[in-house]
Amino acid sequence: MAVKETGVSYYGISYPEHAARDFTEMRAHHCTAVLLALSEFDVFFWFPNIPKIVEEARNQGLDVYLDTWGVGKFFGGEPPSLFLQENIQNRQITALTGEPVAAACFNTPAFQEYFLELVEKLARSCDAQGIFWDEPHFAMPIYPVGYQSTADWTCRCSVCQKLFEQEYGYTMPKVLTDQVKRFRRRKARQILQSASQLAKSIRPEWLLRPEWLVTQCSLPAENNYYLSYERGYDDWEQVAAFPEYDIFSTSIVTSYDAPLATHQRLAEKTVALARKYKKIPQRWIMSYLESPVDIDFIRQIARTYADSGVESIFSWTYRAGFGTILSAPEPINAWRTLGEAYKEVLGQ
Ligand SMILES: [Zn+2]
Repeated sequence: MAVKETGVSYYGISYPEHAARDFTEMRAHHCTAVLLALSEFDVFFWFPNIPKIVEEARNQGLDVYLDTWGVGKFFGGEPPSLFLQENIQNRQITALTGEPVAAACFNTPAFQEYFLELVEKLARSCDAQGIFWDEPHFAMPIYPVGYQSTADWTCRCSVCQKLFEQEYGYTMPKVLTDQVKRFRRRKARQILQSASQLAKSIRPEWLLRPEWLVTQCSLPAENNYYLSYERGYDDWEQVAAFPEYDIFSTSIVTSYDAPLATHQRLAEKTVALARKYKKIPQRWIMSYLESPVDIDFIRQIARTYADSGVESIFSWTYRAGFGTILSAPEPINAWRTLGEAYKEVLGQ
């Protein structure tokens, strides 16, 4: 058993004194860390309280990671985007139909400036352990804009077309040729490279802690939920090799119909790539929307991760989404089981 870190994502509470109670509950459920999922609205509106919430978590012994949750809809997650609300331009454009979609184009100077400022603001003010790139992806033109495939793809906006033409000397094709795929992957990498380097260059002066740990959580490339793997970050080996990253994380298996062998295979692949590139391997457990028929399956997944050499296990989300549209059935039972599983894999 090599598990050193266990945690859940947490969102929607903006009062430090209220969050403190939830952090106590997380400790009682054997969490050693919390992923603070921050929407653009949180960072804009509730900003004064965010560092205080981070401090509360740390006071209770939890490591804190900051998740740029759903920002620009470039990252995964449900929150709406202020950037999209305030910018009718700078959106990803579909290649075949030329339609704008509800996702910021991360190659545009406008979004890059907005996103990097948001990262800098968090990095300057919060005494957190790390920053977390949550399922970044090119949008797929389907409603709701998501990760699933259609024949169409993004982004072929004027900025992307210009950048492509500068690099290759011809008009950006409307089909996903190998050169277009490579161009997309390179651009997808550049924005997060810039943001990671920025975060790592900043630490409040009064802190002597080491630089930020940067995690990228990549979407699964090996289950049956997603039809396309051309989202910009689907080559796990390339992601694991990013020098700016400290933790190599791979996202949730989104169905409890998948057998334990699927979880094992993904864990083993995650660990192998993390070790190859000297990163900390992280796997996720689904605590929302569905629960396994036998709730004990959650414990078996955690054990499998531990046996495979996963060092950091997280689950989405606190209390299994209790009270939200994404609640697991019997969420408190799922949350209790997760806590027991965490206790076991931590050897407590
Ligand atoms: Zn674009």
